[in-house]
Amino acid sequence: MGEAGRHDRELRERAERVLPGGVGGHLSTRLLPEGYPQFYVRGKGARLWDADGRAYVDFLCGYGPNLLGYGHPAVDAAFAEQLARGDTLSGPSPLLVELAETLVAQVSHAAWAIFCKNGTDATTLALMVARAHTGRRKVVLAKGSYHGSAPWCTPVPAGTLPEDRAHQIHHRYGDAEDLERAVRAAGADLAAVVASPFRHDAFVDQSLPSAEYAARARALCDETGALLVVDEVRAGFRLARDASWRQLGVDPDLTSWGKALANGHALSALLGAETARAAASRLYVTGSFWGQAAPMAAALATLREIRGGDYLERLVHAGERLREGLHAQAAAHGYVLRQSGPPQMPQILFDGDPDFRRGFAFCEEAQRRGVLLHPWHNMFLCAAHGDAEIDEALAATDEAFAALRRREATLSAPAALAGLLPRH
Ligand code: PMP
Repeated sequence: MGEAGRHDRELRERAERVLPGGVGGHLSTRLLPEGYPQFYVRGKGARLWDADGRAYVDFLCGYGPNLLGYGHPAVDAAFAEQLARGDTLSGPSPLLVELAETLVAQVSHAAWAIFCKNGTDATTLALMVARAHTGRRKVVLAKGSYHGSAPWCTPVPAGTLPEDRAHQIHHRYGDAEDLERAVRAAGADLAAVVASPFRHDAFVDQSLPSAEYAARARALCDETGALLVVDEVRAGFRLARDASWRQLGVDPDLTSWGKALANGHALSALLGAETARAAASRLYVTGSFWGQAAPMAAALATLREIRGGDYLERLVHAGERLREGLHAQAAAHGYVLRQSGPPQMPQILFDGDPDFRRGFAFCEEAQRRGVLLHPWHNMFLCAAHGDAEIDEALAATDEAFAALRRREATLSAPAALAGLLPRH
């Protein structure tokens, strides 16, 4: 079994004393193989360094924020310059207006923006705008999709009330008929249909929606007067330079953004169509840090790279190179991988591995060899994953497959996942 380094273990012990349950949420390594570092001291490009000085090629990318590379020079220079001038002031800087104008120009459906800090802020705001716009209560969501950690959407219900999730109706993502059933079930009380750009749920194969599903969602909202919300927090700007469903010919009414918007600096946003402007202008929503100027400078620099650079093509190229390499290696070592999702946000699962014992052991062996993969959550490519980084990672995964083969007889189901896995 792999083991975290000494510094990491000491930090975990200290964390247990002063942080309830240790590091929490999606940044916790509780559900990852044992050797994974919990703490990192540095990131640059596609690489991370842990508290014990070990270096990794990182395919977690902060779970999304790292789009262009950690410590991107232009983005971080813009951030640092604005930080030196002022960040949290008694009012926003002019960058607020410039950033809203930039996003409205870039994202087809958007006529306005509200800025906030985390993805959860933006998805929660989307529901508020939809309810204010329609005066209705019900929301249709996809079963198993993640939209944040507020009481209405956290996947672990401790501390929440059934009432927090009242008025939610679930459907099977990608199934237009089931979506229509859910919409009909809401009757005259439907405020919103909420969807992810693609199915990027944990533990399962990812799937891209058909144009028909997206079009049906749009048509059902038009028919009922509900708002169509696409949660771009995780996939935003990784599938397209515009909102993700533009490629399917569908413009949502609201999109929530976070993570990659400022390449790792703290900023999220709700973007809305003209239809929803009046409702959005009636809400009282704010936060002490929502007007921070430095993350907005970082977002403007990130958007310049998105518009003017080839980051997206590089992400896809790197993702395809990784996918093809892993496919060939798996075959050579006698394994079948199920690689799903867009190549720039891959989910990599072992076929015939219902309790994830192979996935865990494979990721553990890769981690020991300096590559951070995820056994059950989609991964992320960034624009700093060049051919050299991918080839370096593939050299490590080839050895990891061989090590996995040697361990086959002694693999056991990861105890951490007991009770968490979805039934197929
Ligand atoms: N929506 C989606 C699709 C997400 O992936 C996430 C974060 N993983 C969120 C919302 C919530 O974002 P945050 O953690 O920034 O609140």
